[in-house]
Amino acid sequence: MIGIINNRIDENTFELLGKANQLAQKIQADLCLFIIGSMNMEIDKVKDYADLTILLLSEKFEHFSVYPFLINLERAVRKYKPSILLSPATTFGRTIMPALAARLATGLTADCTDLDVDEKGNLLQTRPAIGGNVMATIITPNHRPQMATVRPRSFSFQPEKRKGMVERDEIVKIEDGCEFISMEKRETSAQIDQAQVVVSVGKGLRRKENTEIAERLAKMVNGAVGATRSVVDAKWFSHDHQVGLSGKTVKPKIYIAAGISGAVQHIAGMQTSEIVVAINKDKYAPIFKVADIGLVSDAYSTLEQIVKLLEDEKDE
Ligand SMILES: Cc1cc2nc3c(=O)[nH]c(=O)nc-3n(C[C@H](O)[C@H](O)[C@H](O)COP(=O)(O)OP(=O)(O)OC[C@H]3O[C@@H](n4cnc5c(N)ncnc54)[C@H](O)[C@@H]3O)c2cc1C
Repeated sequence: MIGIINNRIDENTFELLGKANQLAQKIQADLCLFIIGSMNMEIDKVKDYADLTILLLSEKFEHFSVYPFLINLERAVRKYKPSILLSPATTFGRTIMPALAARLATGLTADCTDLDVDEKGNLLQTRPAIGGNVMATIITPNHRPQMATVRPRSFSFQPEKRKGMVERDEIVKIEDGCEFISMEKRETSAQIDQAQVVVSVGKGLRRKENTEIAERLAKMVNGAVGATRSVVDAKWFSHDHQVGLSGKTVKPKIYIAAGISGAVQHIAGMQTSEIVVAINKDKYAPIFKVADIGLVSDAYSTLEQIVKLLEDEKDE
């Protein structure tokens, strides 16, 4: 059985269901979705894409708290015994999965960007390693379940209809040492992981003031501004804007890489974009290897020309 754990029904759940369905077909396994959270879950939206959806719902689960979630998930996993267990590499997945792996005395590969299974049912867990310079494929041959968290937006498989059964599992009430007091949502200016167009800037823009043209372009197309780590390190933008291995993974319809060299760590975060437009004055820059449209030109003046064209079009 392949299991997926999440605390909400969101795009990450559907993404993992799509990929897990592909793996399950390959090894003839059942696909089971563990949903843990508050009572108000739109189960009907998702249940048909798993063989079995196991609900761990409680009004006490409205706010995430590690210990009660962990104990209930451990119980459910021991009961249903999936051989593979996946969760999105979100704050939830990144927090709960290592703790769960420790309790189940098994391994965990964090932040995978690709998954496959071999004929023996081993999960092939691929992720960047050694500073992103190599892609390592890791297996867990001696322990079960084989656990992995998966970077959001790594796959584009659509989930398919399966048996669609639903079971509600009993919740063990745990005396939680934490008390929920209040929550403040952090406002972030960078919605790069949601935007359909991302205009990303690199050191080729030369100075912070020049990035204003990228912001103008992003605003005109209702997009967002991304950045390389070098630009974030130089404090041109906050870390919310960083695309790549140690930033966010984005999958927009159009990704414009302006003055970006295309280091492997950057490419790891944008290579699943639908159309990549690269602007770099060096025709040998590695970014051109992943570009659909390549412009060998100055990044600032090219962005300026695009903005002007769009402005002229608006005026007509
Ligand atoms: C563990 C680790 C994690 C990392 N994580 C990330 C990450 O998440 N995201 C990330 O982006 N990086 C990450 N990096 C850093 C990465 O290796 C690169 O250093 C970084 O991406 C380079 O940023 P850049 O392309 O802006 O700068 P540079 O590499 O300096 O490239 C600038 C580019 O601009 C071009 N250029 C110069 N002038 C112009 C001009 N006038 N017009 C057009 N083009 C011009 C140059 O030809 C060059 O290709 C990580 C590194 C490590 C070791």
